[in-house]
This record gives sequence, structure tokens and C-alpha cells, in this order.
Amino acid sequence: MHDDRKLTEERIHRMLRDRIRPALRPESAPLALDTWHGTSAPVPVANRGSGEYRGSGVGVRWGLPWNTTWFRLRGEVPADWAGRAVELVFDPGFDHRRPGFQCEGLVYRPDGSIVKGLNPRNEWVRVSEAVAGGEPVEFHVEAAANPVILGDHSFTPTELGDPDTSGTEPLYRVERAELTVFDSRVEQLLHDVEVLDQLMRQLGTDEPRRWEILRALDRGMDAVDPRDVGGSAGRTRELLSPVLRKPAHASAHRVSAIGHAHIDSAWLWPFRETVRKVARTVSNVLGLLEEHPEFVFAMSQAQQFAWLERHYPQLHRRVRSEVASGRFVPVGGMWVEADTNMPGGEALARQLVHGKRFFLDEFGVETDEVWLPDSFGYSAALPQLIALSGSSWFLGQKVVWNQTNAFPHHTFHWEGIDGTRILTHLPPVDVYDSELSAAELAHASANFAEKGEAGRSLVPFGWGDGGGGPTREMLARAERLADLEGSPRVTVESPAEFAREARAEYATPPVWVGELYLEFHRGTYTSQAGTKRGNRHNEHLLREAELWTATANVYLGLPYPHERLDRLWKAVLRNQFHDVLPGSSIAWVHHEAEREHELVRGELQEIIDGAQRKLAGSGSTPLVFNGAPHERDGIPAGGAAPATEPDAFVELAETDEGFVLRNESLRVVIDRRGTITSLRDLAAEREVVPAGSAGNVSRIHPDLPNRWDAWDIDAFYRNNVTELLDAEEVAVCEDAADRVVVRVVRSFSHSRITQTLTLRGGAARLEIDTEVDWHESETLLKLAFPLDVHTDRMAAETQFGHLYRPIHENTSWDAAKFETCAHRWVHVGEAGYGVALANDTTYGHDVTRWAKHSGGTATTVRASLLRAPRFPDPETDRGLHRFRHVLVPGAEIGDAVREGYHLNLPSRTVRGASSVEPLVTSDNSAVVLEAVKSAEDGSGDVVVRLYESSGGRATSRVTTGFAPVSVRATDLLERPWAGGEIEHDTTGFRLTLRPFEIRTLRLERT
Ligand SMILES: [Zn+2]
Repeated sequence: MHDDRKLTEERIHRMLRDRIRPALRPESAPLALDTWHGTSAPVPVANRGSGEYRGSGVGVRWGLPWNTTWFRLRGEVPADWAGRAVELVFDPGFDHRRPGFQCEGLVYRPDGSIVKGLNPRNEWVRVSEAVAGGEPVEFHVEAAANPVILGDHSFTPTELGDPDTSGTEPLYRVERAELTVFDSRVEQLLHDVEVLDQLMRQLGTDEPRRWEILRALDRGMDAVDPRDVGGSAGRTRELLSPVLRKPAHASAHRVSAIGHAHIDSAWLWPFRETVRKVARTVSNVLGLLEEHPEFVFAMSQAQQFAWLERHYPQLHRRVRSEVASGRFVPVGGMWVEADTNMPGGEALARQLVHGKRFFLDEFGVETDEVWLPDSFGYSAALPQLIALSGSSWFLGQKVVWNQTNAFPHHTFHWEGIDGTRILTHLPPVDVYDSELSAAELAHASANFAEKGEAGRSLVPFGWGDGGGGPTREMLARAERLADLEGSPRVTVESPAEFAREARAEYATPPVWVGELYLEFHRGTYTSQAGTKRGNRHNEHLLREAELWTATANVYLGLPYPHERLDRLWKAVLRNQFHDVLPGSSIAWVHHEAEREHELVRGELQEIIDGAQRKLAGSGSTPLVFNGAPHERDGIPAGGAAPATEPDAFVELAETDEGFVLRNESLRVVIDRRGTITSLRDLAAEREVVPAGSAGNVSRIHPDLPNRWDAWDIDAFYRNNVTELLDAEEVAVCEDAADRVVVRVVRSFSHSRITQTLTLRGGAARLEIDTEVDWHESETLLKLAFPLDVHTDRMAAETQFGHLYRPIHENTSWDAAKFETCAHRWVHVGEAGYGVALANDTTYGHDVTRWAKHSGGTATTVRASLLRAPRFPDPETDRGLHRFRHVLVPGAEIGDAVREGYHLNLPSRTVRGASSVEPLVTSDNSAVVLEAVKSAEDGSGDVVVRLYESSGGRATSRVTTGFAPVSVRATDLLERPWAGGEIEHDTTGFRLTLRPFEIRTLRLERT
């Protein structure tokens, strides 16, 4: 037979585009359009009548950036359409290349009830299944003029991301406003042809099935009458029916398809707009649920449900009823889909606590998974936290974006730092907004790494970020792909059904140990330093606020501020969303985040201050409150006592080398350039700075990633570096009995760095405070410390513990970790000796090793301070920043842990009467009290969350400042947990933890 495949394929394509698709709406009638150009703030539906509407029409320009415009669409169904299905079509000027990320609309009836969202793949509103003809039609559309920021992915700096700079030109132009006849016969034909055509193009040209479909479609096209596509649809479909009825291969891959819409809680739009994006998408989903009994939809992020409840109660009521029926499925169990690299331990736990509790309280639903397809890599602390929250599996995805190494598994057991293993699935379809196209499904099947052992994967389908979610077209595809030869079998079902089947078919999945490091987006540990600083400081203020108010509650009977703390926690959790804390949002979002952090900070200071004053009582003795979990300068952890006079000294000398600072433990030389040329550990009798090098060196690099500016640091940044060694000033600015402070000032380009280096008497640490008045762009600033330590790995703090990462480049996996995330400290050590660098705001680090002339290797630790990318916020990081570091020679891991807490939890002095005994203490420094608080249920019980911090086994006597009635193990949500009751006496209890184990305990009070 002659090969006419290409000719026939082109024919099918042309027929679809020019004959079948246009026949879907064979007739139309224009609608009258009135427009009110609204205001910069969203106008509630109840106020839509207050505006001044003007008659307009197709072609009207509208939408100053970020403004809301109200459209009123009115018309009459033509009399001769009687009996036909009619839909309104409104295109306010969509960018059809990509749903979401642009203008959107929400359609209301004249009575204010919501109909549905309008999106580029969802421009229609059903008027009637069968019109009488002649009836009036009226709908109102609230249209949001969200600017297109990402556009063609050129990452060109834009002023559109800030309402103050976004301009005064309308962004959109109405393209279409009409009533149309909708021919469902053509709709069904269109889906048949599209599904077969797409599937055919995925099959090999050597496969008979491809040719069978080609011939059937060819015959089908013969049967289409271009003058009456609807009339000929039935005949055409009959010709296609035999190839559509052939069942899938026995071994075909199985797809659990779940409706979903990945809505970033803030990103290229502010939180304010996400509230509306959620409403638009949910209204579409509710419509689909009504019309398609097989449809199931999963929505994550408790915060988005909470927005719906507050701002769209009518939608929320309908969601509640669909949740009860099991078809609208809350997933994820977190407050937002957070970043997991940077949130502190307690904050990541609270993401789960607040998320899961919301779903339990609102819907009585116990979510069973953590759902984070888009977060930028996944912390190795997560498996244990997932298990302790009462969930059993994890859905991720982003690591498929790895630039270097293909992640080897899609379904596996993920083992965290403590050894907890969690079933994990990374959908092999490689997207979380599938259209259920044949290409995507074929990719999922071919790509699935566990082929042969397992045969099932999950596919989230639906447009995200304001694209409107799943569409009726996707459901039509799913229906045809349920059991079709050549395709994976597609079943629309809940994530829980997927997890149950995946577990059942795969008893011994492979194990991945440690973090799921994303080989991409490494700049997110550093971008938008102000947002990160606010997060870090407030995480620690929250700890203190809970500690001191719980202490005051038990000792003095003062009320515990449950509601305030709940609200403040949620503000911090919200700003840990995976485009906010990482620094990848527009300027507007980061300005708001920083303002909100400032408000939270003020309120927490007030709570802490109030509780401490009450605890101190009336008196004039200066009392030092230590909110850290380890004793400090004689003040017990979690308690307060009069300051003690340190029996310590520090000396200063000026020599040819520079300033020489010395106390009992260290001798530090700061040269005329302001760098540390010698740091001698007197107890260990060793020099920490390698010969010929210097520490505290500020380095700048051009930072010009190929793509994703705020997200990425590309490896080639290392090829160009300037060390800032010229100092305007290096001078002693304080020379007291107990401390010496040297000030260093450098100016470069448009910026200025002012540092103070402080050595205190009695302290085996050097404090480095860095203030940067930063006016650079696309420049990476790092602070470097070469250390005479021979090692091939570093330890970095993560939530509730630490992990080791290689610092060599043996394999492509090692080399790809050229910039990594650490919480409060990093540590490098050789046998018997280590050095820690602790910080109070930054996360990005790189640690490298180099050969010394004298033999062996040395190690350089560099903290990333600032980046200043220009997309999506062209002014990122401009202004004043403060960073605190502490360099600790001779540190073991335990010292690093302690210094990290101390630096982030400075002590406070309050005048009062007498000491305050700690409410709860641990006598083993490795067993760290991460949270001490009052129970969420208002019972007055004390809840403590503690963990083993060294990576070894540890036993601790936990002493209480009150006599507990009982001590019970709970999960993160403070519900009873395995382990049950713990033996105790009137002053406390003992417990033993395995490496990095987290325990939550409820201490019942009378
Ligand atoms: Zn996202």
C-alpha cells in the first residue's frame, strides 16, 4: 500500500482546526456590554452597582494593571434558537498561549450568586440546555487586570510587579462577547477525533495500532459534511467507534488521574489576588462536579480553604457538601504548600499542625499525605514530621527539574535523617497541571522508573494559577482513555485510592536516603534577604512568646494567648509559601511580607515583654531571661536569674600584624585590611586560619543565571570573583574589660559594608556583625572563612537535626551541590577538631576544600549574604541589611547546635524581684526542647516538643517546674500517640531518644 500517512495526518489536523472545531458554535448573536472601570482595590460583588457603567463593546480597552473592572453583559436569545443549547462566550482579551498568569473573570448572576470563572480555556457560560427563544440574558463579570509577568520566559526585568510602578496603560482589550449555539454532537465528535489523533501520534509508525487509527480517522473525515458537521457527527462517530472500543493492553500503565489546580498562594500576584483565583477555580470545579459524577478534585493548602470560607461563603458551603461526598478532597495537610528547605523545625511542624487541624475542624477529614509538587527540593526532616503528623505518604515532583542528574525513582520509600521511611511518589508525567493529553500520558508510562515492579502513577490534571482548574475537555479525554488500546488506563480517582493501590502492588520499593535536593533554584536560599530575616526572627520570637506565656500561665495563672499566637503563627506560615520565603515573588509580595513580619515582630515583642514583666515581679534587680534551650552564662535554659559578673578577661594589643585580641580561649589577629589572618585556639594549641589565607573576606561575584533570576545561581558564578580587601577604616571601637570590638568599613561600587568583630572575655567564639548598605544588582555577596580543617564533608543544620553533605566533586551528584541550604549553623570537622559558623538570618552556603602547600587540605566555608536579581523584582535586596555570624573554633556538633540557638535567641534583661525557675528543662544538652507551650485544646496542659540533636542516642532527665499529673506521648497535633504514658514523679521524668528522634509530650496539670 502506498504510504500516505503524512498526507492523512495533515488532513486530520486541518479538518479539526477549520471544520470540526468551528462547528461547535455554529451560530452567534452579539451581547450588549457595559463597563465600569472600577478601582485599584477589588470591588465586592455587593458594591458592583455603585459604579458608573458606560456602554461599550468588543474592542473596548480595559484594565489598568492590578485594577478590577466590572462588565455587564446583556442580550436576548434569538427566537429561532428555540430548543437548542446556548452558551455565552466572553473573551476579555486572554493571552491564549498559557492559561493563568493573566487577566481572569468571575461570572455572577444579577442576584449576586456566582456562576463560574472565566479563563483562556474556559471562556463559556452555559445559559440553557434548551432555550425557549426570546428570553433575556444578563451576567456580570468581575475582571481582574493581572499583568502578564512571566510572558515568554525571557526573564526581562519588569516594573509591573509593583502597583506603584506598574503604569497607567490599560493592559487588555475585549475580543468577544456573544451568545452562541452549542452543538453537543460536534463536541462529542471533536473529543473522539482529538483523542484518537493524539494517541495515534504517540504510537510508533511500526505499530499496527497507529495505522488502524489512521485509517479509521481517514474514513471518518470522509464522512464529515463540512456544511453540516453536527448533522454528520453521528455517522462519523460510528465509523470511529470500533477503534475507540478496543481495550487497553493487559500490561498497560495505570494512571490515577486527579483533578487539581496548583494555585501559588502568592507569586507573580499578591495574596489578595490568590483569594480570587481560588474562588474562580473552585466555582469551575463545583460546576464540573455537578455535571460529571465521576469527577474527583483535590485541593491543597488549608489557607486557601480559609480564604474561601471568609470571602466566598456561598462557595465554601458547596465545597463542604462536596467534601462530605468524598469528591472534593482536601489534601496536603499543610497550612500552605511551604518551602521545606528554610522553615525552622517548629515552623515546619506547625505547617502540618495548622493544616491538618483546619481540615479536621472544618471537614472532619484526616488528610493522609503531604502534597508539595512544586516546592524547591524536600528537606530530609520531612519523613519523620509526616509520620508524626499522622500522615502516611508524600507527593512531590520538583526534583524532576534537576539540571544535572535524573532522579532515579518515581515510587519509593524516602528515609529521613532519623530513619523514618515514608511512601513517596513523584508523578512521572513530570507536570502537576496535566491536560491528560496523549503525549503526557505516554510520557508518564515510558518515564515511570519502577516499570516491571510497579505499574501505576498519579497524574494531577487541571490548569493552575488562575487557569481555572480541570476542564470538561479533560474529563471527556479521561472518559475515552479509561480503557483504550495504545494508551495507559486512566481512572479519575482520589489520591488516597492511588496510594492504596500503589502500596498494594509494590511491597518492597527502593529506598532513597536523605534530602531530595533540587539541582536547581539554589539562589532561593539567599534572594530577598529581608523576607528571610523576618521569617527567621519571627520563628524565634514565636518560640519565646510560647515559652514565657506558658511559664506565666503555670506559675501565675495568667491567660495563655491562644488566639493571638494562632493568628501570628498563621501569618508566619503563610509567608513560608514556596515563592515567598524563597524570594521568587514580585516586589509587591515581598513588600507585604516584610511589612507583615514587622507587625508580627512588634506584637510578639509585646507578648514576650508582658509575660517577662509579670514573671519578674516588681523589683529593681536586673534579671536575665534566657529563652534558648541551653544554659547561658549561668542563666538556666528557659529561666531567668540576676546577671553574673563573668570572671573573664580580654586583652588588646596593636602590633605589626594588626590588632591582636586575646582572651582565655582565643587569640585573634585582625590585619589592616580588616581580615582575620590568625585565629589561634589556645586550649587546642592550634591555628584555625590556614597559613597565607585570611578569614572574614567579603567576595562579590557577577550573578547572571541563564534563567529564573531570583531562583537560580548557576555554577559559573564562581569563575569571576572580586575580594573586597580595601578598607576605609579598621579601628578599635570598644576596648572594655570584658570585650574588644574592632570596626571595619569598606566601600565598593555603590555599596558599603560596615562590620564589627567582637571578642568577649570567657567566650570561645568570635562574633561578626555585618551591615550592608546594598545598592548593587545581579551581584552575589559572600563572606568567606578559610579553615585549617581536613574533611570531605560538612554538617548543616536542618529541621530537628542536621545532615552531612559532601564538599568534594567526585560524582555529578556531589558536584551539583555547589550551593546548599543550612539553618542556624554549618560545621566542618576532622577527627578531634571542628569549627562551626552560626548565623542569624542567612541560609545559602558553599563549602569547598583545597590543597595546602604544606600537605593535606583546608576547607573554606562561605555564607551567601545578598544576590539582588532583577526578575521578578527589579529592585531585589536594595537597601540596608544586617547579618550576624559567630565563628566557633574547636566546636563539636553540640556546640554548633547551642551557638545556633543562642545567636538566634538573644537574652533579655528585665528588672524584677527574683529568679524565674524554668518550666521544663533537659539535663542532656543533646536533648533539645524545641517548643514549650500550652496545649492547643485550652486544657492548660503543658506541651513540650523535644528532639535528639546530635545524631546519637540520648537519655535525659526532664525536670518540670510543677508536678505533672501524667506525661503522655502525642503526635504533632497533641493527640495520643504510640508510647502512651511515660513514667514520671513530682519533678519530672526520664526518656531516651534515638538519633534525631522528635517527641511531643503532653504534661497534664491538675
Ligand atoms: Zn508553585
